[in-house]
Amino acid sequence: MKAWGVRGNRKAGLLMKEKFESVNQEKQQQMNRTLVMNLLRKKRLCSRAELAKLTGLKRATITNIINDFIQHDYVIEDGILEGEKGRRCIGIRINGEKYRILGIMITRQYYSIGIMGLSGEVYEERKYYLDARQNAHETMEDIKQKSRQMLEEYKHTDVLAIGIAVPGPYRVEDGEVLYITNLIGWDGVMLAKDMKEEFDIPVYVENDANCGAYAQLWFREEELYKNDIIYIIAGQGVGCGIISKGELLKGNMGLAGEIGHTSINFEGPKCECGNRGCLEKYCSTIAVMEKVQKRIANGEYTMLKSGCSFEDFKNAVRCGDKLALEEYRMACEFLAIGVVNIINQLNPEYVIIGDALAEVESQLMRRVVNNKVKEHIRPVIWEKTQIKMNDLEYNPILIGAGVVAAQKVFENPFQFIKE
Ligand SMILES: [Zn+2]
Repeated sequence: MKAWGVRGNRKAGLLMKEKFESVNQEKQQQMNRTLVMNLLRKKRLCSRAELAKLTGLKRATITNIINDFIQHDYVIEDGILEGEKGRRCIGIRINGEKYRILGIMITRQYYSIGIMGLSGEVYEERKYYLDARQNAHETMEDIKQKSRQMLEEYKHTDVLAIGIAVPGPYRVEDGEVLYITNLIGWDGVMLAKDMKEEFDIPVYVENDANCGAYAQLWFREEELYKNDIIYIIAGQGVGCGIISKGELLKGNMGLAGEIGHTSINFEGPKCECGNRGCLEKYCSTIAVMEKVQKRIANGEYTMLKSGCSFEDFKNAVRCGDKLALEEYRMACEFLAIGVVNIINQLNPEYVIIGDALAEVESQLMRRVVNNKVKEHIRPVIWEKTQIKMNDLEYNPILIGAGVVAAQKVFENPFQFIKE
């Protein structure tokens, strides 16, 4: 009996070893595929020889990967490239016509739906304003209906995954929204589960600032990849996505980067989060418009009228309206204090600022923030920190929602194809 037992254990041990090795092999293959997909995304067009050189993988491994990709329509051969010693070789690129991603960006005032390629390129974006009379459930039904419409119109392509950006914290496992300040009724909405059940497509949810940071990373990779970067959204709320050495810093509950709720005045106005004098009470579009309305009501001189919109405010700043300019500069100065705090905490190399408030007068904001930050941090830190304004063509949050989903596809492309 004992002998049998020993032999049995040995056999089991060998089987285990084989299983372990094959799991490892599969993992390695997955990593190689991800590496090749990412290179093709960055390079746009690349030969097999160049892929082998850049990845350090054997030529035969690259040939196998590319063959698998071609078979599944992930990549196509396209054009002739000049290789080493003038040799002509076939170019490979990601098949943007076949597979797509649906990116959805939910904000406090509107939502956008974008049909995107696996490299994060936006083919079409549609924007819908939220109806203030609707509850979260009704809005979700609208989002589903508009998404279905988009999927229907692009049915000649296969949408592999959906990425959703939310303006507040969510629970990672099922994308349950925890809260969105200034948007009532969204607490407990099961975004990922709900959308997955509706469309039977994998759904990934990410915080809006994190999405913005991902987009910066994908589209400025050469410049930013190995660096610590912060992407600040100054819009209806204020938040930031933190990337350290190419990885997003999320924190224990995925709530890292909520700089909008760091206090810059402990006697300031009470915030929904429970804190007082939160940064976003001073430099969000909502806070700025509240102050503007108050000054109009006090009868101060301005081209703006009571009840004016943020678009009107933007126009007034650009026209040089004194009151609008004062409020804009003031918001930029407050934002700068938030930037100082985050620089002192995390010591990034790049701080990139984007979203609605930044878009009002981007260069003016850059100047005001730069001057203020320079005054408030140690010169040695200032010399090593660059503050930039977002200059991506499409909204980085929408792009980032797509990037979050595309990243998942890159991790294991074959898993996403429906037989
Ligand atoms: Zn707060």
